[in-house]
Amino acid sequence: EKFKGGLTKTREQFTSKVNDLVAKYRKVDEDFFEELEELLLQADVGFETVMELMDKLRYEVQRKNIKDTSGIQSVISEKLVEIYESGQEELNTLNLPEEGLGVILFVGVNGVGKTTTIGKLAHQLKEQGKTVMLAAGDTFRAGAIDQLQEWGNRVGVEVIKQAEGSDPAAVMYDAIRAAKSRGVDVLICDTAGRLQNKVNLMNELEKIHRVISREVPEAPHEVLLALDATTGQNALIQAQTFKEATNVTGIVLTKLDGTAKGGIVLAIRNKLGIPVKFVGLGEKMDDLQPFDAEKYVYGLFA
Ligand code: GDP
Repeated sequence: EKFKGGLTKTREQFTSKVNDLVAKYRKVDEDFFEELEELLLQADVGFETVMELMDKLRYEVQRKNIKDTSGIQSVISEKLVEIYESGQEELNTLNLPEEGLGVILFVGVNGVGKTTTIGKLAHQLKEQGKTVMLAAGDTFRAGAIDQLQEWGNRVGVEVIKQAEGSDPAAVMYDAIRAAKSRGVDVLICDTAGRLQNKVNLMNELEKIHRVISREVPEAPHEVLLALDATTGQNALIQAQTFKEATNVTGIVLTKLDGTAKGGIVLAIRNKLGIPVKFVGLGEKMDDLQPFDAEKYVYGLFA
């Protein structure tokens, strides 16, 4: 239900337009396909994904000898899920160790909702019975440390921090030591989101990686990139840059409730090959949901 509620904007605009299209054409023909293609592009599904979908649709329509547009939505849904999952299931689970300390590193530019997401995820893991600690690794942006501390207080988890401007790798070192000595299950690390200089970003993330994996051999177990769904194609460009700078294992797509262009989920997966593990559907503590492609796509047409 939460999932559906968060998608209201995409559903209202995208889905109602598809429904209008179905009513307008009745027959599945080239004109219908062309307008559908346009709608999908407007919803930020992305060029390659749209082309792949149209190929699949045309094939399916021919194979099943589908003549009229009634029920075409379910064929579209089916094909979209197929493209998203491409044979893989459980794309949205976190790869954390059964025993010992699990480390999640968060990356992403300022303002995308990184801090909020860290707070929400800490809450979710805590609800699952795990002990959680946060590391205030964004020592660059003014206020970032305080903001993370606020979330720590709200959720009721400890935040390891140093003064603004200190070395983020040193913060990580402290945090891992603290997490280990307290027997914490999951350490979630914030990082600064500077993109202006890719070499700097790379170096900083590399150093953080090095410190973490020296202390916990397999860590970080997840590197999650926060992207703002309302920024559309810009989010894709950010994702590309971060992918080049570090080993991103999953994406958290924030503010999906604030956009009608929810198709970006499919574009990200298809273009970058990185699964969307969570979506942000609001500003509150429990507004983070594991991303479920099937629920998502069928939810659009429900
Ligand atoms: P950061 O700079 O990346 O750490 O971003 P913040 O966590 O400070 O978030 C920036 C703004 O986006 C804040 O006002 C958040 O409340 C808001 N925000 C974060 N996630 C979501 C979401 O999923 N939905 C909505 N509607 N707002 C969000």
